[in-house]
Amino acid sequence: MKKAKKELPDYIRGRISLDELLASRRVLQHLYEQGLMTQGEVSAALSLSQGTCNLHFQRLEYDGLLRSVRLQSAVRGPGRPTYHWEVAREKNATLGLVFDPPYVFVQLEDFAATPLLTLSASLLSCRRRVIIAEKVCALVEKATEEAQARRLILRHGFAALPGVLDPATGAVKRAVNFPTLEGLDVSALMQTHFKVPTLANSLGMAYYYGEAAEIPASTTAMVIYWDLGLGFAFGRDRQLLTVHGGDEGGRTISELGHISIDANGPRCHCGEQGCIEAYAGGWVLLQQFAKDNVASLEDLVALAASGHAGFQSTLREIAHLLGRHLAGTIQMFGVTEVRITGPLAPLFNYGQSEFLAGLSGIIGPQRASSIQVQVSIDSKTRLLAGANRAARRAYLYPDEFKRLSGLSITLQGQRLAGR
Ligand SMILES: [Zn+2]
Repeated sequence: MKKAKKELPDYIRGRISLDELLASRRVLQHLYEQGLMTQGEVSAALSLSQGTCNLHFQRLEYDGLLRSVRLQSAVRGPGRPTYHWEVAREKNATLGLVFDPPYVFVQLEDFAATPLLTLSASLLSCRRRVIIAEKVCALVEKATEEAQARRLILRHGFAALPGVLDPATGAVKRAVNFPTLEGLDVSALMQTHFKVPTLANSLGMAYYYGEAAEIPASTTAMVIYWDLGLGFAFGRDRQLLTVHGGDEGGRTISELGHISIDANGPRCHCGEQGCIEAYAGGWVLLQQFAKDNVASLEDLVALAASGHAGFQSTLREIAHLLGRHLAGTIQMFGVTEVRITGPLAPLFNYGQSEFLAGLSGIIGPQRASSIQVQVSIDSKTRLLAGANRAARRAYLYPDEFKRLSGLSITLQGQRLAGR
């Protein structure tokens, strides 16, 4: 028989509320980073009194975030167990929503980063935004049912979206490669239908966090995500570097693909001429090689693998152009590692030496050769993991995202499983 959950004593309930107490978050962060620790170790590390620390521990345990483990102490000898504490990683969960047109993916993960359920749907037939919202809700519904069945507490979500987003809400303002998404506010949708606080941000953030686990912390990395469009993200110390374009006219980093490099260049989806994306975006390649029975991004990867000389030569030209035109940005951010990810990432293998040659033409061979260039393997798996990692960080480290919105400021999250 299951034991009924003990009531939280009034003296803790009255003094410590997860809704407002920032110090509880510091305790949680410390245990998340350090693993198993005693209360004494945590109170010493955070300069909290033992009494205060104990209140935080009881509060966090009561809310399902921490659990204690009884260990025999080697120092004190047999018969004197000590209590160690850790984050209850298997009891807490996040949802990653990834909009990678024409697909949407929803993945449920626990705090140990174990994927528990992955769902997807094609949005190709969706002519209206409400239909997209319905499809997304149906996937999230299934994922929350799974969370419930596993008695997980769903704490936070992260939605990775393409295009230009409203900086305040994360709603899609402009998505030139999939206009039906325009106006979609995933944060509001998740709050209204599921009460799950969800940060909506660029695909670049999920791509970056997906790669970041593999990139040394002190390395400044540029992540290029190559799909229908061409997006960019920069990060260091496992955090995304963000630059806001200002109220009018300026661009955010992910829009680097829409910086014009030739006023008389090819016309881009965005209405301008000569954007980097107008040379290299997946939508351009699909048009150029339509005559070779290419209808999807997967077809493009297969075409290159089949040894198509014309396509491979186009890929070398694109890589050279990318090297030349990204050189300035690479210098500006001090990038030492370039990761190419996304469904078209395998195409970069045909042009990697041309990319370095283009780069070398601007910044010199010595600097160019110091830059690590890597094509990501299994980028979809990493992307979904990255979205969940972003969701965990949005929950545990909201300060990292304070310039963004859609964040829950409490530690509450959304409890789905019964107490
Ligand atoms: Zn453009």
